[in-house]
Amino acid sequence: MKVTSSEIVISAVRPEQYPEGDLPEIALAGRSNVGKSSLINKLLNRKSLARISSKPGKTQTLNFYLINEVMHFVDVPGYGYAKVSKKEREAWGKMIETYITTRENLRAVILIIDVRHDPTSDDEMMYHFLKHYEIPAIVVATKADKIPKGKWQKHLKAVKEKLQLEKTDSLILFSSETGQGKDEVWSTIKNYIS
Ligand code: GDP
Repeated sequence: MKVTSSEIVISAVRPEQYPEGDLPEIALAGRSNVGKSSLINKLLNRKSLARISSKPGKTQTLNFYLINEVMHFVDVPGYGYAKVSKKEREAWGKMIETYITTRENLRAVILIIDVRHDPTSDDEMMYHFLKHYEIPAIVVATKADKIPKGKWQKHLKAVKEKLQLEKTDSLILFSSETGQGKDEVWSTIKNYIS
């Protein structure tokens, strides 16, 4: 998709704050520091719309971005950051659960993982949570530029096995540094929003 406009419309916590209307939504989730902001900025051709986080785990709101007036991206705050209190963690869990389980506009979740490492237990939990609620997942393995090309397939295979990736879910190799995988992510998104 050629992105001609993107803007933040609201930072929401509760359902009554979600944007009105029936535009399709794609949510983006991943552990803190995985490269989610960089991926959003890359997909939207923006330098710093989704702020590249200096303090991981800080944002505890769902940030809705309107794209080309036809869809929303929903930036989900990163998980797995050690310095977050139990109370904050619970609030996060509740916010995500409410959003995922009640939002009719939601078409798929992009789950971002680091291609260099096996998915963490939090990543596994998030994937299985999505599968439990039958939400399509697009797994994006980012930071591909950080490992040699010859190792890509081995790492992707490990991700598939660890997550027990369902056949209908995509796994896309990505790099915010080089732009690799950008077209594939967009064409996959397009399948879910049209
Ligand atoms: P977030 O916390 O998930 O939003 O992660 P950020 O987008 O802030 O990225 C965390 C760090 O990883 C930053 O220093 C980024 O520059 C770096 N980073 C993110 N994506 C990539 C990538 O694809 N390749 C490389 N080499 N670095 C990346």
